[in-house]
Amino acid sequence: MSGPVTSLTFHENARAACKDASLRQSLKKCTGIFQKKRREAVQALPLEELRDQASAIKLQVLDDLGAYVDRFAASATRAGAVVHRAKDAAAARETIFHILKDRSATKIVKSKSMVTEEIHLNEHLHRRGMQVIETDLGEYIVQLAGEKPSHILAPAIHKNRQQIGKLFAEKLRVPYTEDHLELLKIARDTLRQDFLTADAGITGANFALADTGSVVLVTNEGNGRMATTLPRLHIAVLTLEKIIPSLADLATFMRLLPRSASGQILSSYVSLITGPKKQGESTGAEEVHIVLVDNGRSEIVAGDCREILKCIRCSACLNACPVYATIGGHAYGSTYPGPMGIILTVLLDGMDKAYPLLDGTTLCGACDEVCPVKVPLTKMLATLRERRIAEGLTSTSEKAAMAGFKHAVNSPRAFDWGQRALRRLWPGLVLLSGEKILGRVPQPADRSLRRRMS
Ligand code: SF4
Repeated sequence: MSGPVTSLTFHENARAACKDASLRQSLKKCTGIFQKKRREAVQALPLEELRDQASAIKLQVLDDLGAYVDRFAASATRAGAVVHRAKDAAAARETIFHILKDRSATKIVKSKSMVTEEIHLNEHLHRRGMQVIETDLGEYIVQLAGEKPSHILAPAIHKNRQQIGKLFAEKLRVPYTEDHLELLKIARDTLRQDFLTADAGITGANFALADTGSVVLVTNEGNGRMATTLPRLHIAVLTLEKIIPSLADLATFMRLLPRSASGQILSSYVSLITGPKKQGESTGAEEVHIVLVDNGRSEIVAGDCREILKCIRCSACLNACPVYATIGGHAYGSTYPGPMGIILTVLLDGMDKAYPLLDGTTLCGACDEVCPVKVPLTKMLATLRERRIAEGLTSTSEKAAMAGFKHAVNSPRAFDWGQRALRRLWPGLVLLSGEKILGRVPQPADRSLRRRMS
């Protein structure tokens, strides 16, 4: 790639990713493992029943999002948290910066949070002289490498042990090792000091409970718990769709999220943070701030792709997607990759800034089948493709091909002629495209069905 990687350069990014053998190997291995573990983990569940329940709960919130946001804010305030509302990314960044600045907090430990990636928080705080340290192992690795996460759940999925060993040796000045336990120990020892000396912890949230005002964190590494209990200040940043009605509803999602994400029955740490530490409690932050970020959700909820807001970021659709599993997350040039990422990016960034991403899907439906909250991903992808056409954002060659196809299917003669031409040209086309593309497609029959029937 010559210029910056963005969603507009998606085709170029994808081509470059396809040539990276090490990337493809890592992706194949990891997405394969995630899929297998998920399949095994959901076997014992009344899966369809739970998916319907989870979808209905999410729709209930989306139908009355403003009221649920108010209810959550009131409950969190009663529990002692300070709730801030941010209309867009800039407002969210400024709010967080001022909370930190007013308390002279300059060293911040962070637990993995996609919304802080979405609002580009780290860059903003770094520019203002603050030190922000990612503490999820995968995020820590990509931060050291100066990269962005390439998977929602496993941000460093694109890297192998050898690459991580070299990175640690270079950035942390430790002897090279590719032993995964050694690498873990190095990261843990370094991060432990950061947790103990940080002024504030910033986290996202997997869910937010409207009835209790609690923020729910689901993690496997314990870093979320350390970031929310060791520093005296905790800032939770979350988008509006994270809200669910009640603690009782959390049970449904907790049966689905870990299984869909990593094939675990339950994640290692599930933390419910309800306001700051109370008198007599030994753990917890002294001050809890919750930043509720809209950043386009109010518009999305009023549109025909509103069901993308049901997404619980489990990443099962990424692992199931043949396109994602081939090119990885960086090729999308966006915060969110994979099928859900395409939809969310087009809605958040605008069609004009993200339309090439809509070619990054085969519409095979594998994502729909695994989604634990029944987000109708392929339907929305098709809707957005229609919108792209209506906005005139398709290439000249695609427009010409579609016009030709329309003409052919409307005229039996032209269709027949086209079929015969295709049969004749087929060997040449296979040669031109390469065996790996058209070579895998069945050869057109010598006599078409229509001819045989007539
Ligand atoms: S769209 Fe569904 S499968 Fe994809 S990340 Fe969201 S919840 Fe998971």
